[in-house]
Amino acid sequence: MKTDKTSLIGKSLEGLVKICEDNDVKSFRAKQLFNWLYRNKVNDFDAFNNLPKELITFLRSEYCIHPLTFVRATKSTSELTNKFLFKTQSGALIESVLMNDDDRVTLCLSTQVGCALDCKFCATAKMGFKENLTPGEIVDQYLMISQKINKQITNIVFMGMGEPFLNYRNVIKSAHLLHNPNGINMGYKRITISTAGVISKIEKFTKEKEKFKLAISLNGTTNEQRKAIMPITKKNALVDLLDASKKYTEQSNTWLTFEYVLLKECNDSIEDASRLIKLLYDIKKCKLNVIPYNETDGEFQRPDQSKIHSFMSKLRSAPFPVTIRWSKGTDIDAGCGQLAVSDS
Ligand code: SF4
Repeated sequence: MKTDKTSLIGKSLEGLVKICEDNDVKSFRAKQLFNWLYRNKVNDFDAFNNLPKELITFLRSEYCIHPLTFVRATKSTSELTNKFLFKTQSGALIESVLMNDDDRVTLCLSTQVGCALDCKFCATAKMGFKENLTPGEIVDQYLMISQKINKQITNIVFMGMGEPFLNYRNVIKSAHLLHNPNGINMGYKRITISTAGVISKIEKFTKEKEKFKLAISLNGTTNEQRKAIMPITKKNALVDLLDASKKYTEQSNTWLTFEYVLLKECNDSIEDASRLIKLLYDIKKCKLNVIPYNETDGEFQRPDQSKIHSFMSKLRSAPFPVTIRWSKGTDIDAGCGQLAVSDS
């Protein structure tokens, strides 16, 4: 359903207070409204049964509740991964991915329609950049999906379509809405924001002492190698990225995760593994997460098992924790780097 009305989902408590005040309604009503939207996750204006009728009539005439429309869900053959497709109010399509791993249920959110950063191994990059998602469109992915499943979402990662730090304000606003204890109440450390390495925003995130977890997609061990697969490196050099990362861990006293997508004959040599150890040696609180590449239609391939094994063996001598992540949704193009939608 296409509508030009502003959505209530995405409004902060302060935003709802303003609506109440503008309508001569006592501001405590805003907290009730916040509760209905984010804690009780209602879909209908009739559900606001403790709010004054005049306020409900006004809200109904001026606002819609959800900014997104659900299009479809697709399940992987392993049944562990679900991909959800939504339409935004502008008519663009976005995807979110839900991953089940025993008691851990992680939702991967999109933050932009397409992406401008053009990472060479990424399906989203091929769409180009179309638009930023609003805080409401980001939070609504969580709200709509949590109503469609019978499990509690335990973790959220901002790792879907788009570069979160190129939509910084809306992403941080949505993360705070997901965290707000009077609403969704997702713990700070259960929310991870992942960046391809926008240094100025890593510095801002550090300076503003944001408590959400941070992850950085590293994917290269020399500046030249990284530049070839992640053009963002041209303006955000590897050495400066590592410096900003180190400062973040020191000033926040928080662990930082580096993601490393392993690409055949590109960044999967033993020399790369050795360089990784050297590069991250000085960052005291970091973890490395190696992700064997999920093949899309592009030019890259996943290294064979023996190569992955040798790479991981070399990393055993690293002074920091190293993990490997196998995507469980590659058959529905829901693995890392595979999200892309067309307008058709
Ligand atoms: S990997 Fe992330 S930052 Fe890079 S192009 Fe894809 S969506 Fe954008």
